[in-house]
Amino acid sequence: MSVPSRREDLVDLEGYHSASVDVEVRLNTNESPFPPPPAFVTALQSALAEGALNRYPDRAALELRRAIAHYEGVSVEEIFCGSGSNEVLECLLLAFGGSGRTALVFEPTYALHGHISRITQTSLTRRQRGSDFALDPTQVAKDVIEVQPSLTFLCSPNNPTGNAESNDVVHSALEAGDGLIIVDEAYGQFSSESAQELRGGENAERLVIVKTFSKTWALAGVRLGYAIGDPEVIAACEAVALPYHLSSLTQMAGILALAHVDEMDERVREITKERLRVSEAMSTMALRLWPSEANFILFKPSDRSGHDVWERLVERSVLIRDCSSWSGLEDCLRVTIGTANENDRFLKALEEVL
Ligand SMILES: *Cc1c(COP(=O)(O)O)cnc(C)c1O
Repeated sequence: MSVPSRREDLVDLEGYHSASVDVEVRLNTNESPFPPPPAFVTALQSALAEGALNRYPDRAALELRRAIAHYEGVSVEEIFCGSGSNEVLECLLLAFGGSGRTALVFEPTYALHGHISRITQTSLTRRQRGSDFALDPTQVAKDVIEVQPSLTFLCSPNNPTGNAESNDVVHSALEAGDGLIIVDEAYGQFSSESAQELRGGENAERLVIVKTFSKTWALAGVRLGYAIGDPEVIAACEAVALPYHLSSLTQMAGILALAHVDEMDERVREITKERLRVSEAMSTMALRLWPSEANFILFKPSDRSGHDVWERLVERSVLIRDCSSWSGLEDCLRVTIGTANENDRFLKALEEVL
């Protein structure tokens, strides 16, 4: 007896994973180090007590989408919500990718753009970024013209490199082709740049901005993300999403989070301040550091192997992300900005190791 064989195009596919090691200081997955505000948690508890969990959730998630639309200054028809922005990306690929179509990514970038492309049978074309990881608008236009992708993924700020994509790059990609340009702004609030400014402009009906509550909103455990896009694109995502894919709990949490914008913004400011402090401290060490507009920093030890430094940090109970085996990131490591105390632990350990 044996189980049936897997889909041939996916036999070598591995699930997405990051190392889980038991450590005291966990700076490897870019979450917020702060729990959500206590007032939010209390409000969620009361909402939960009143909520009717025996009923299916609002399938259109109208109240949540209205709240997000209000926050973003767009109309409710321009918002699609998913269980994490990963589900949003999956719906975009199901609706606009698939067999016979191509997605374009610029590596190194967020691995799931390529991963979900494969799962949805969208063929993937990878282009490599230069050593400073910034994209050049002219080159991006050339790539889009050559590849003719149905979807082009940009990530701004880019995970794991930390640089924000200039709007010239997004604009140039929009002009060059006729597919969707998806700008993943999971870390958008840590940056001064946003593709939002291009909405309403030329070709903007093909622009989709994807955001998440996982990072800046300190709600990775809730699983809520959304796309801002043209109503036709949003309707196409709704058509492929599973019915009731967004639980009542998720919808409640999202609505309530948007009533606590000030406290969430305060957390973003705190982390941005710490990012400056950590990068200044790191700039005196034996390493190369890339400027970051996100809540993490990519760096490369000057005289030691990246993996070796990673292991020695784990020995000191500090876990960061080992990117040293990723394409274009030889010997590179990525550290998430934590609380002041966690950052001190990291800096001290790194100093010792280097
Ligand atoms: C963390 C991250 C996400 C978040 O995914 P969720 O499913 O919303 O938790 C999306 N895009 C990028 C680039 C990320 O780094």
